[in-house]
Amino acid sequence: MGSLNGTSIFRMPFFYVDLTSWAFTGQQKAHVVTDSISSLDAERLKLSSCILNRTIIHPNVEEAMKSYRKELFFQVPTRRAFINITPQVEECLRESGIKEGFVLCNAMHITASVFINDDEPGLHHDYEVWLEKLAPHAPVSQYKHNVGEDNADAHMKRQVMGREVVVAVTKGKLDFGTWEQIFYGEFDGRRKKRVLVKIIGE
Ligand code: ZN
Repeated sequence: MGSLNGTSIFRMPFFYVDLTSWAFTGQQKAHVVTDSISSLDAERLKLSSCILNRTIIHPNVEEAMKSYRKELFFQVPTRRAFINITPQVEECLRESGIKEGFVLCNAMHITASVFINDDEPGLHHDYEVWLEKLAPHAPVSQYKHNVGEDNADAHMKRQVMGREVVVAVTKGKLDFGTWEQIFYGEFDGRRKKRVLVKIIGE
């Protein structure tokens, strides 16, 4: 123990810092050599480690960081459909070579969704019934948006089911919870539409 500016300090010649921020992916962990770290309490110690995290950026961080982008295309023959796109996203992950990071997957249309849930046909039927109750397609004249088009319900269904998902990548695999799968939700199909897959990590 010593004293710095009148406060108690612990002498910690080797303070082990876990670089938790994935943005600084130059190295997972670093030994920080320091004479002393002021630490009145746990909160201050946490603050100290945050500051240390910020000061340690591997010089080759830009080289270590990988970025991957791909568009997936879908042309659904029906107005609405749910498609399990997990195999395509896993293929993107393999192509990227990224082992630790994040996958972002989003619909690039405002009448389609990307969401995560169970690959269970009964549930998909239930979604269809539920969404039709929330925002019935017909009569199309009930929507002010439907001037020269008929997809107001699709905009609303997409809003409820969401635009995108983010999945952690751990040891080169999508780090899913139990039964989680990625779906493309089409609400205004019968034309070519896109999904973006963006992967960042190392
Ligand atoms: Zn529209």
